[in-house]
Amino acid sequence: MSRAARWLAPPPIDHATGLIVDARQVLSPHFDERPAGSLPELLVIHGISLPPGEFGGPWIDRLFTGTLPADTHPFFAGIAAHRVSAHVLIRRDGELVQYVPFSQRAWHAGPSSYQGRSACNDFSIGVELEGTDDAPYTDAQYGALAALSAALLTAYESLSAQAIVGHSDVAPGRKTDPGPAFDWARFRALLDGVRRGAARS
Ligand SMILES: [Zn+2]
Repeated sequence: MSRAARWLAPPPIDHATGLIVDARQVLSPHFDERPAGSLPELLVIHGISLPPGEFGGPWIDRLFTGTLPADTHPFFAGIAAHRVSAHVLIRRDGELVQYVPFSQRAWHAGPSSYQGRSACNDFSIGVELEGTDDAPYTDAQYGALAALSAALLTAYESLSAQAIVGHSDVAPGRKTDPGPAFDWARFRALLDGVRRGAARS
């Protein structure tokens, strides 16, 4: 079996709390309730790095928890006051960091539209990949994203493998992430592999 064909197991998700059991949790104050009757129906993939193009620092955690120091980097001054979050970040080494329970509404998509429905945060789960539009995402990130996506598809029947999009798809002209560097065909093949593997076990 090739290395690429060794699928990661989907990480367990506690449906009662909306949390990945084994993820590092950095819970954000930037969330609220989904509108009554709204379920997660869409998975939105993002890319982020802070400062842009630099990986590994604490700044994404700080942004999503509202504690980004505006004076630490020129780029931060413009975004430090933004009240934003994602449900999960996948770091370059594949580590999962969860900021908002999946049952709650994270503030990741902004003004957005999917198949004629606006306000995608209401009915989506937002997953950030630490990266940029143009630098290849890592093998560990593809593996972790496929495994997480499979786990979410199992945990939330309202999701579907067809309803997985990039931020740029729901906010065209305004957002470009996860960018041309994100290999959708590779991700989808990995996701199919994880789901087939999970179904057999
Ligand atoms: Zn985004």
